[in-house]
Amino acid sequence: LVSRKNQQEDTVVSIGEIKVGAGKPIMIAGPCSVESYEQVREVAKALKEAGIPVMRGGAFKPRTSPYDFQGLGIEGLKILKEVADEFGLKTISEIVHPGHIELAGDYIDVIQIGARNMQNFELLKAAGDVNIPILLKRGLAATIDEFVHAAEYVVSRGNKQVMLIERGIRTYEKATRNTLDISAVPILKQETHLPVLVDVTHSTGRKDILAPCAKAALAAGADGVMVEVHPNPAVALSDSAQQLNIEQFHQFLSSVRQSGLLN
Ligand code: PEP
Ligand code: MN
Repeated sequence: LVSRKNQQEDTVVSIGEIKVGAGKPIMIAGPCSVESYEQVREVAKALKEAGIPVMRGGAFKPRTSPYDFQGLGIEGLKILKEVADEFGLKTISEIVHPGHIELAGDYIDVIQIGARNMQNFELLKAAGDVNIPILLKRGLAATIDEFVHAAEYVVSRGNKQVMLIERGIRTYEKATRNTLDISAVPILKQETHLPVLVDVTHSTGRKDILAPCAKAALAAGADGVMVEVHPNPAVALSDSAQQLNIEQFHQFLSSVRQSGLLN
């Protein structure tokens, strides 16, 4: 169903008034984790000022170590909603449990399925049974074909509002956190009709190369870019090293906008 052979025209995913995949790329930004009302509010204020309409923030955090911050859970989704309502922003947050998929719609506008859950088939099926846009991340070591099949799980249950996001894959390279597979962008655009985005933060794990990677993604045809922003990355409860502070975010954004690839 997600194949270009089956449907020629691009799927456009609607996040309220925002259209993803309609030819005007979007920027999604926000903290790795929702940590507090004040923290989210500070980021939301900066996004509003910068004209960015969609904010991300993790409330359920799938961490490598069980001793690391696991997220605020539903409380985090409530914070996102409260702040988003104040600033008129749309929100994206990861859901990790099939039982939370339906309830998520009460708080957020887009459900993210994380890299570690790309082949959590019960979660994919639950995501396919609701009418909420899904942002599906590529698995840590997933082939493009496996990624496309994961999207098929969602779409085949009825939910056609699916966006794909390349977030870097495991290779032998250690210079970056993951290897940004830029070629996945044109391949996914050719082989599927779904919007394709690139998460420059998790794919590179390096603040110093985010702008060129974002431009490369957009030049390759991506429908959007995602980046992590935190008011004070040094004290962030997750991904402290890779999040931009607000000043760096404004610089990043103006550099990407100067390329003419982003409004
Ligand atoms: C995230 O975007 O918050 C995240 C955990 O990323 P990934 O699933 O790509 O590792
Ligand atoms: Mn993160």
